[in-house]
Amino acid sequence: MTQGEYAKIFERTEIQVVGMDCADCTRHVTKALRDLNGVDAAQVFLSTEKAIVDHDPSMVSVAELERAIEASGYEVRRGDGHDRETCGRDAFMLLTSGLFGLIAVVLLVVVLGERLGWFASLSGSIPVLVYAAVILIGGWPVFRGVLRATMKREITSHTLMTIGMLAALAVGEWATGVVIVFFMRVGDAVEQWTAQGARGALRDLHDLTPQTAWLIREGQDVEVPIEEVGVGDLLVVRPGERIPVDGEVITGQATIDQSAITGESMPVEVIPGMHVFAASLVRVGSVRIRVEKIGSETTIGKVIQMVEQAEANQGQVQRFADRFSTYYLPVVLGAAGLTYIFSRDPLATAAVLVVVCSCAIALATPIAMLASIGTAAKRGLLIKGGRYVETLPEIDVFLIDKTGTLTLGKPEITEVIPLNGISRGELLALAAAVERYSEHPLAQAVTRAAIGEDVQVEEPTDFKVEPGKGAQATVADHTIRVGNRRFIESARLIAEHVGTADGSTILYVEEDGVLVGYLRVADTLRPDVPSALAELRSRGLTLIELITGDSRSAAEAIATELGVRYQAELLPEDKLAIVLGYQDAGHRVAMVGDGINDAPALAQADVGIAMGAAGTDIAIEAAHVAIMQDDWKLIPELFEISDRTMGVVRMNLIFTGLYNITGILLAAFGILPPILAAAAQSLPDIGILANSSRLLRDTSGDSRTRRGDG
Ligand code: ADP
Ligand code: MG
Repeated sequence: MTQGEYAKIFERTEIQVVGMDCADCTRHVTKALRDLNGVDAAQVFLSTEKAIVDHDPSMVSVAELERAIEASGYEVRRGDGHDRETCGRDAFMLLTSGLFGLIAVVLLVVVLGERLGWFASLSGSIPVLVYAAVILIGGWPVFRGVLRATMKREITSHTLMTIGMLAALAVGEWATGVVIVFFMRVGDAVEQWTAQGARGALRDLHDLTPQTAWLIREGQDVEVPIEEVGVGDLLVVRPGERIPVDGEVITGQATIDQSAITGESMPVEVIPGMHVFAASLVRVGSVRIRVEKIGSETTIGKVIQMVEQAEANQGQVQRFADRFSTYYLPVVLGAAGLTYIFSRDPLATAAVLVVVCSCAIALATPIAMLASIGTAAKRGLLIKGGRYVETLPEIDVFLIDKTGTLTLGKPEITEVIPLNGISRGELLALAAAVERYSEHPLAQAVTRAAIGEDVQVEEPTDFKVEPGKGAQATVADHTIRVGNRRFIESARLIAEHVGTADGSTILYVEEDGVLVGYLRVADTLRPDVPSALAELRSRGLTLIELITGDSRSAAEAIATELGVRYQAELLPEDKLAIVLGYQDAGHRVAMVGDGINDAPALAQADVGIAMGAAGTDIAIEAAHVAIMQDDWKLIPELFEISDRTMGVVRMNLIFTGLYNITGILLAAFGILPPILAAAAQSLPDIGILANSSRLLRDTSGDSRTRRGDG
């Protein structure tokens, strides 16, 4: 089935789901949706609280999808925002929860006081009916969930805790029952709060694009909702406003802050002819822009989409954490069973069931990933999934593309050598006619030179690009080819004698099979490359290799300067083969490129990194990590962020693991009474929240000033 046919049958619907706070929840919702007839695919995201469903509307309606979600125990938010009814309900919930919390804390103190002999038995004098009422009312949200799960033959951590609580009640420990229920609610609240915190980073991104725009209609500025703006419209943006679309500046002049997209806080000057991105902030001045892209087509729109869907690209650690709940439930049940068999003590058994923290492990990894991916996105470092955060610390081969990646991407023509009787101007004109529609950085150098020297450039026909070799077109009935010596056969003879030891690139120009000259193009190495490579080496990443389509001598000059290996004269498929070769030899490969002539290699690498991705769709789409601006300092930073994140993840997992094992042992031997076990259970959640939120802290402050100074 082609994409078009697919789209004819299946419709994509997005539904906002409320109340999911752990990986288990997304699995439940996904299953509920996939089980429906007429649903082809369903993906549920914890970070955005979204379900994306491909369904056949003739078989299953949106309303039916929503009902299925609700039946699985979660709420659906229709339209946007809260209506008055839910607000009222929230307030009521808050009040009853507060009251319940107060009762529970008082009881906890009373029961502990009794145990320590501070005061005589108080808790025993409260009528059982009062306890039962408090437990039922206070624990209702929890019990409802447990009942729903049980009806679907699912066991959750709350099921275990409820059994534990019932065991405590059975031996007359009513106050303990209240406290257990209270801490179940605390656990839920902490999880919800943690998930919300991590979602914050994403919401910030959303808030960056304005919802209205000033449209110029018949000479008048009118404010319209962003949905009414179309490609080709003229907009005006004034100081203090954010640009609502991607577009080209037509008139005016402004200083804009693009940090929302590129992470670079140094403002840039824009003048007519330059392109601007949605979400940039106009600081000084005012511009009129022609709309080129709107909504999800804009660079920021793509960024948001990528970050939202990052959750789908999970790594191994994350998948393990996700599945953890399915492993730990039987283990805890077994431990509780053994405890009962050996001790015949219902309280110790109850304590074992209660002590294991509900969701902390399942939550630890996704929260850490979300936090670091969100924070990185704010710096203009777009990581498309936890999988890449997990892989980066394991990378041992680093491959670099040359043109547009290692070099500034602003090459200049330094020499124009006409041959076989044509003039310098004619040569430049021919080359520029071929290159005017190529997006290769070298082609743009030719175009710029032709504009600079004011030569007349004709309109080409039959324009064709040979990736990694050159370009060809028909200009005034002559076939003109521009490219390297592998592309221009007639250049073979002189190529030996044209020196490129300075690292410059030679573009040969051929007219109907006859060599008519060549252009020398020099591109400057990005100044921050050597220090970035030095940092990578100091991290132990020593196998660094330049892989380029350029000539051997040009590659050698740069490789020697940087002290790296090189392979030259490569076609896009050769670059792909190199990546595959290293992978077959057991290496983990990162590749950095610009998306031009290296997209297949970027996609195949374990981590493909695109440089200067703002505004270039191929780079954003092919790579796994997109660096929005041309800043090599962000590459070591990317490795640093991943190391730090995996450190936090490991710490979270080890901490909760040890904590739970200790808890089970203490509970099984009767050292930890159920009432304390219940309290202990909610601590890891809080610990993990604190630990993971370290990743939310923006560490960019120092490096930004560094960049600003330079
Ligand atoms: P790199 O691997 O260094 O990024 P590319 O693979 O993009 O380089 O290009 C390799 C070589 O192919 C260039 O050095 C140039 O000689 C030639 N080439 C590619 N595209 C063009 C073009 N549009 N015009 C002229 N030459 C080109
Ligand atoms: Mg390139």
